[in-house]
Amino acid sequence: MDTAPMNIVVTQNPNPVSDEKLAEILADPGFGVHFTDHMFLVEWTPDAGWHNARVEPYGPLSLDPATAVLHYAQETFEGLKAYRHEDGTIWGFRPEKNAQRLARSSRRLAFPELSDEDFLAAVEALVKADERWVPMASEGDEKSLYLRPFMFASETFLGVRASQHVTFMVIASPAGAYFKGGVKPVKLWLSSDYTRAGRGGMGAAKTGGNYASSLVAQQEAYAKGCDQVVFLDVPEAKWIEELGGMNIFFVFKDGHLATPETSGTILEGITRASLIEAARAAGHEVQERPISIDEWRDGVSSGEITEIFACGTAAVVTPVGELVWDGGSVKTEQGPVTTALRKALVDIQFGRAVDSFGWTR
Ligand code: PMP
Repeated sequence: MDTAPMNIVVTQNPNPVSDEKLAEILADPGFGVHFTDHMFLVEWTPDAGWHNARVEPYGPLSLDPATAVLHYAQETFEGLKAYRHEDGTIWGFRPEKNAQRLARSSRRLAFPELSDEDFLAAVEALVKADERWVPMASEGDEKSLYLRPFMFASETFLGVRASQHVTFMVIASPAGAYFKGGVKPVKLWLSSDYTRAGRGGMGAAKTGGNYASSLVAQQEAYAKGCDQVVFLDVPEAKWIEELGGMNIFFVFKDGHLATPETSGTILEGITRASLIEAARAAGHEVQERPISIDEWRDGVSSGEITEIFACGTAAVVTPVGELVWDGGSVKTEQGPVTTALRKALVDIQFGRAVDSFGWTR
């Protein structure tokens, strides 16, 4: 099988979005609603390996109704951002970590692996083709270009087995500030009826099914006036796992931090890993360990836990303002550790601080 770096053929979009329209979009991009002029594609078959790598004009795919992904959800994806620094240059934040996580998800989903090198080449080729879509950010207005790599079972076949035709793509969408008008604490709903992942399941993989299974709990959260769901472990429903799309940290009175360990049922967030390093560099002890829902409730009530925050690529760091469950709730305030860690990461991403960790490229 061909293991040489892929050769990417670029076909420029003959009808790109006009400069005027683009300026309008980038002034208020929202999230996930506008897409750039190009997309990246590469296909895999057992005989040819990865082949036909290309950047072409963005547009709809034509899929046979029997395409396997539509039936058995064999798919995996990633999410990362390209950031424009003040000098106009464009940077990625640890994209090799996304490449490695895609490879881990691919193994879990019985996909062939794309090399880290090819993942990075695909992302870079698309960002280069759509360079003008990377917004200029200003302090407090953290615009970026969100990149969505994804892999899916593209074989036309209804038998249940690993697909013999696989497509990997990258699309891009400009993203506005997650919090308009300043960072706002989120209200979380503790799901008691639904769980996210059990031992041996797909919790650590970034695959559509995990998100599909979270939607009904998310609807329940909205109905209770909350923004996001906190999922507990299976089978005890005692230990905190993560939110529908973010990891979670607790800050204690003595300055140490704790976050649930990655034991196979939660997504290994790249923001989570970066915050552990950044917090340690700032002198905090950080524990990766099981944290029970009782520790959350009791710790906040006793003052032992002083701050709680969620983290992920989209919002970076989000303070948790309240946890609500059937029959009660407990409140927390945004605190100085949350604010400082958020700033440390955002400043590195946007080139406003020296990247002493070597995370940007
Ligand atoms: N957990 C889940 C379930 C997620 O979807 C995400 C977002 N990718 C995260 C955690 C945070 O991961 P990251 O920091 O890599 O964005």
